Amino acid sequence: CGIVGFTGRENALPILIKGLHALEYRGYDSAGIAAMTEDGLRVIKTRGRIDALEEKVREAGGLHCTCGIGHTRWATHGEPSDANSHPHLGGDGKIAVVHNGIIENYLELREHLTARGYVFRSETDTETVAHLIADLHKESQDGDIAKTVLRAIHRVRGSYALGVVSLDRPDEIVAARRDNPLVIGLGDGENMIASDVTAIIRRTRKYMILDDNEVAIIRPDSVQVFNAFGEPIEKEVRTVTWDM
Ligand code: GLU
Repeated sequence: CGIVGFTGRENALPILIKGLHALEYRGYDSAGIAAMTEDGLRVIKTRGRIDALEEKVREAGGLHCTCGIGHTRWATHGEPSDANSHPHLGGDGKIAVVHNGIIENYLELREHLTARGYVFRSETDTETVAHLIADLHKESQDGDIAKTVLRAIHRVRGSYALGVVSLDRPDEIVAARRDNPLVIGLGDGENMIASDVTAIIRRTRKYMILDDNEVAIIRPDSVQVFNAFGEPIEKEVRTVTWDM
């Protein structure tokens, strides 16, 4: 299972697909991407191989975006199927989430969110996080999705690496993690997230490691990292020294 995300100036689609291929070795049963296109937030996902995803993207007439997230899934809650594949949309589809890990209190969250009118389209634990973020984001005055993600993860028990995109901030990716790996690739006018450096090394050798309970805002020209209290923190910039 794996996560990749890109925000920059070039078309993100081939970069996301290559990133997913680089993460194939981690094992997976489904794959998908969410793209911030000119027509809004679009999700294409499928059970099966990344080749099957590429085929679906072609059938859809391609995708053009400069910001997007991708996922390979190793199913833990809900069988491998198109509907259970990630990304998952939250609320009315303005937010998309990819997740590796397990949300332990997902049944509780699912009940709470169903009672609040959210309709679930999958059997995954992850979809609860997508709707929870959408629900909490309704109260946001300034569209700051990172603040909302921070509030959401305080309500979540379990393990996660998360990548979140929102139509409110179309060039922004928000990342968070607890007990699942996530790195931030630092490029020139572009930045990435990924489960490990194999997925970013074609674009950059500079990266940061996101630590437990931290949240990051990734934009084409900046990366900001916050601790669990929402305070900005400095991260060490590392360099990959080996070759693929
Ligand atoms: N628990 C989530 C699911 O089953 C994520 C699995 C993963 O880490 O790929 O959809």
